[in-house]
Amino acid sequence: MRISRFAAAIEPSATLKAAAKARELKAKGIDVFDFSLGEPDFLTPAHIREAAKEAMDAGHTRYTPASGELELRKAIASYHKEYHGLDYAPDQICVSSGCKHSIYTALCATLDPGDEVVIPTPYWVSYRDLVQMTGAKAVLVPTTPATGLKMTPDQFRAAITPKTRLLMLNSPCNPTGSVYTPDELAAIAAIVVERDLLCLSDEIYERLLYGAAKFRAFASFGPEVYARTLTINGVSKSYAMTGWRIGWTCGPREILKAMDSVQSQQTSNPCSVSQRAALAALVSRQECVDEMRKEFAARRDYVCRRLQAIPGVALTPPDGAFYAFFDVTAHFGRTLGGTTINNSADFCLAALEQAHVSLVEGAAFGAPGYVRMSFAASTERLEKGLDALSSWLK
Ligand code: PLP
Repeated sequence: MRISRFAAAIEPSATLKAAAKARELKAKGIDVFDFSLGEPDFLTPAHIREAAKEAMDAGHTRYTPASGELELRKAIASYHKEYHGLDYAPDQICVSSGCKHSIYTALCATLDPGDEVVIPTPYWVSYRDLVQMTGAKAVLVPTTPATGLKMTPDQFRAAITPKTRLLMLNSPCNPTGSVYTPDELAAIAAIVVERDLLCLSDEIYERLLYGAAKFRAFASFGPEVYARTLTINGVSKSYAMTGWRIGWTCGPREILKAMDSVQSQQTSNPCSVSQRAALAALVSRQECVDEMRKEFAARRDYVCRRLQAIPGVALTPPDGAFYAFFDVTAHFGRTLGGTTINNSADFCLAALEQAHVSLVEGAAFGAPGYVRMSFAASTERLEKGLDALSSWLK
């Protein structure tokens, strides 16, 4: 059967693939320590679930405007005003079916085939494929631990060509946990303005910060930056709402109008009940976000301590998000349980089969020597999984 060139060029999401493999072993009765998915293990807070039930009974079960209900877009506008001092009118906001969908819709509305998109690497697993799905070209900029796995202004400048249209920035970053400082962001923003580019700033982890890390919204570096920024955010990570599928984009009116048209043909609108749940998340008490963040912070400290004690694991502790991203090249060439480890894919497969620990190979994020471990799992599972990983690597 012939499938299209478009579909053939798309890799399935590596994180979902790793999770599926872990599920296969679980189905065989094996106790797998699954640290592959970036999904809070907490239940969506009760008051949000209640709001969704009430919404169904109140009849919020119909089509909504393509870019989402006005009330939700107003709440999103208030959020960005309160937290970042940014003014967005409701017609500058598009609510989509999760941030992944927000990103794709934003790319569909801004890129033409042949355009180039600069992506600091390691990057979130879907960026490259989402860009390729528009016919544009992803230009990967490799970073090193020397700069905290962050792209420098010089690297950015060197990657720009006459075809460059957009920069995709993700701070706090999945998979590295790196957070760009305000000064670093200001330097990158100045180049975006100077070269008249767009920046898609994926800020989905903005509320999950550790230690002294500070978040600053990319659009907040003055009117010229604001006019060139598409801010992506959503409820999946901060409110433990991954399954509800609500994300949004804020940005220039013309682009948001185009996104509204794209979305009206793609999905009609994001799920009506989920929109009411997201509204409740944004307008009600925010303590739940900080309670979860504190728990992630404790797990982050524990996971870093344990990983740093394993010989041959090189980890830069994350300042945000909920991933430990570590270099395992010291183990390449070793034979473990009869398997020779030549790359991080071998490492992850052997870790799953022999230690029953599910991790994601770095190649999926454009960093083949690395492995990603999500610490969005209970402390008890983290403890046992890290015991299994460290005794396997001994
Ligand atoms: N952006 C980043 C950096 C992510 O890590 C994720 C999810 O893992 C997303 C976007 C997608 O979020 P959503 O579940 O809202 O589609």
